[in-house]
Amino acid sequence: MSGLEAVQLLKLRLPMLRPWRTALGTLSEREAVLVRAVVDGVEGWGECPALPEPTYSSEYPDAVVDVLRRHLVPRLLAARVSDAPGVAPALAPVKGHPMAKSGLELAVLDAHLKATGVSLADFLASRCDPPATPAARVPAGMAVGVTGSVAALVEEVGRWVEEGYRRVKVKIHPGWDSAAVGAVRDAFGSGLVVAADANGSYAAVADPPAALRPLARWDVAFVEQPLADDDLLGHAALAGRLAIPVCLDESLTSANLAEAAIALGACSVVNVKAPRVGGYLEAVRVHDRCRARGVPVWCGGMLETAVGRAANLALASLPGFTIPGDVSGTGWLYPEDVAGDVFALDAAGTIAVPRRPGTGVAVAAAVTRRAAWSEWHRPG
Ligand code: MG
Repeated sequence: MSGLEAVQLLKLRLPMLRPWRTALGTLSEREAVLVRAVVDGVEGWGECPALPEPTYSSEYPDAVVDVLRRHLVPRLLAARVSDAPGVAPALAPVKGHPMAKSGLELAVLDAHLKATGVSLADFLASRCDPPATPAARVPAGMAVGVTGSVAALVEEVGRWVEEGYRRVKVKIHPGWDSAAVGAVRDAFGSGLVVAADANGSYAAVADPPAALRPLARWDVAFVEQPLADDDLLGHAALAGRLAIPVCLDESLTSANLAEAAIALGACSVVNVKAPRVGGYLEAVRVHDRCRARGVPVWCGGMLETAVGRAANLALASLPGFTIPGDVSGTGWLYPEDVAGDVFALDAAGTIAVPRRPGTGVAVAAAVTRRAAWSEWHRPG
């Protein structure tokens, strides 16, 4: 890669087929921030999947766009990096903003890989230590939002099981946990992998181990992020008093923090989200360090469009991803996605990893024409 010629930032408004409800709030429309990078005449695409409000992490779409246009894109254009791994070091002087950095890095990486004819899955596998071979297909998993009634939850999970999903993750919070998860286990039996994600909501209860212990009855694969983001010692104490493995998500914003959490006993399962750790190359480092310590990882989702979804499929093809993640098929979230690519489940409940160069996805021109806002940046 000799030259980054231009970067375009785009904001799109994507209606959702149904509202998405968690302990963090309800979402009925997605504001997607996409990044287009042009490297030696070849276009690449990245996505910054910050949620509309800064309730999952401190990032949100307008903050992502602001830091990209004021600080990150100008730095990258000035740095004249010669390869995709040079992107993160060029952006490192800016603290925080991992989702903004991840989208920009992915756009440059995608352009570079499209120019050289290498798929993102092959590239990420080549960056593993030791180098790995990507899987051709990955098992699909679905995260199910808070439905409001146990009957509605069982009905929704039933739809996904019918479509071939073999793993569901149920969003929980105090007052919506054991009865909800138990109803899913009762309805679908032991063949379904069931996990629970609390998004930090048990930080507010007086005795988190007592509140979460009833979940153990239902053969829960793990309970994710029960306590506050910064409470590694609290998670370690909780993990020592629960029969269910503890998984961390929001807490782990880098490979260093993932390693520290494992060393402290704060988790025995790790949710890897590239946008949360600043990019897909840092996500590979999280994968490597967990794998070296025998800690299973899975690929988390942020309700991504086809761009981020394809990149997550590539990440999930690495060998340490031994638990099905939030990698789901297309069509259930956005009636009109940003690209026509279809990620479909086969009879075994798996999805093919894209093998075309880069992420394999290109955003449709009709979609970019409908952008709510866009802006080009070129070297000064
Ligand atoms: Mg989570």
